[in-house]
Amino acid sequence: MIENESAADRLAAVRDAVGRVARTAGRDAESIELIAVSKTWDADAIRPLIEAGQRSFGENRVQEAEAKWPGLMAGVADIRLHLVGQLQSNKAAEAVALFDVIHSVDRLSLVTALAKVMTATGRRPDCYLQVNIGAEAQKGGCAIAEIPGLLAAAGTAGLPVIGLMCVPPADTEAAPFFALLAKLAAENGVSGLSMGMSGDFETAVLLGATAIRVGSALFGAR
Ligand SMILES: *Cc1c(COP(=O)(O)O)cnc(C)c1O
Repeated sequence: MIENESAADRLAAVRDAVGRVARTAGRDAESIELIAVSKTWDADAIRPLIEAGQRSFGENRVQEAEAKWPGLMAGVADIRLHLVGQLQSNKAAEAVALFDVIHSVDRLSLVTALAKVMTATGRRPDCYLQVNIGAEAQKGGCAIAEIPGLLAAAGTAGLPVIGLMCVPPADTEAAPFFALLAKLAAENGVSGLSMGMSGDFETAVLLGATAIRVGSALFGAR
């Protein structure tokens, strides 16, 4: 990215790229949610994107989001806030209160904790099941074999799981992992696919992403 470009220019460039790839793939670009991942960036860095019309934003820490977003959301009614980072069960209530979408549901204890809060509050953020698609040690996400059981548990508990999310292994071709996530979603009867970041969102769109999570291409290097 070019450092002296404005946030609005970078947003337009990413949107153009999504539109181009979507046309190539015969997809409607409107069906792909561009999430601007604003983790580590302060309100002054985020505001220009809101002013340029961006409405979906992603954060990876509950506390950081709680500090930044109530102020940014004042006077902008339609911000959609996405949690894209790992979530501890003891933060479930705070996450449900603040976020509209939670991308990191990956274990039964978290399904249970989130469902309990949603039942108690009546607030029901859409959720994605995060899959450890490359079976990497110490990476968030459930094992592929756990997907059916977790989806069933979510269904029973009333947790609205709309799709699967992944972060493929770094420094390898992402396409096979995106294709695998799409296949797993189809096999398990969910339609949402949260996949693709700054380096590979075009590939993700080609392979069916319905939500892409883009940070550095919009904000610069962290
Ligand atoms: C930081 C982050 C992103 C955005 O990454 P970029 O490479 O800056 O686009 C996307 N998804 C998750 C889960 C992240 O933590």
